[in-house]
Amino acid sequence: MNQIASKTARERLEQTRKRIDAACRDADRPAGAVRLLAVSKRKPVEAIRELHALGQRAFGENYVDEGVEKIAALGDLDLEWHYIGPIQSNKTKLIAAHFDWVESIDRAKIVRRLDDQRPDGLAPLNVLIQVNLDDESQKAGCAPEEIAELADRIADAEHLKLRGLMAIPAPREDHEEQRAAFAKLRELFDQLKERHPQVDTISAGMTGDLEAAILEGSTEIRIGTALFGPRD
Ligand SMILES: *Cc1c(COP(=O)(O)O)cnc(C)c1O
Repeated sequence: MNQIASKTARERLEQTRKRIDAACRDADRPAGAVRLLAVSKRKPVEAIRELHALGQRAFGENYVDEGVEKIAALGDLDLEWHYIGPIQSNKTKLIAAHFDWVESIDRAKIVRRLDDQRPDGLAPLNVLIQVNLDDESQKAGCAPEEIAELADRIADAEHLKLRGLMAIPAPREDHEEQRAAFAKLRELFDQLKERHPQVDTISAGMTGDLEAAILEGSTEIRIGTALFGPRD
């Protein structure tokens, strides 16, 4: 049983890496230009151990309490943990204390709290500003017009390191329409980079649209289902 499960994880990871490599070739970008973030929400720690044994290092979690529990349980492994879910202000202390990256910053209050609450002695928290590209009311993320001011605040924060932008565009079937959404994000990133030249990360692209995202310059794709199988 266990052996079958291991084989499946290996195959899923290989398949995903192949898709990323092929997309990098099509985009004339070097292999390794794109980080694979394994989104492990609602998946058990054993599944994370399995992927780690196959060489995967970066994992993303959407729920704070669940993420913190897994980080503690897997403290013996060298993993990089990204918080990618919506942020409630009563959870910032836990996020600041346990994660390496936060990809979903969308308001000034959260910037202030994470900066105040990042423990001394830990490296600065790497942060991305989440942008709500399609003006969807149910989704987190700031409006494109709000990026500049948030970025300035993050750049001034002693315990935070501004790394770039994250977005979850509305799902689209058509490849060209997918590309257009990621191209818009790339434009916003280029504007941000003029003011903050150190930014280096665009987190965009999931199972259904990673090729389009990579063609438009994404540097990190976030994959759950294709790596772990469907969630309950
Ligand atoms: C769940 C999730 C993913 C992964 O989604 P899959 O469809 O399982 O690949 C990526 N990004 C965010 C922000 C998510 O919440």
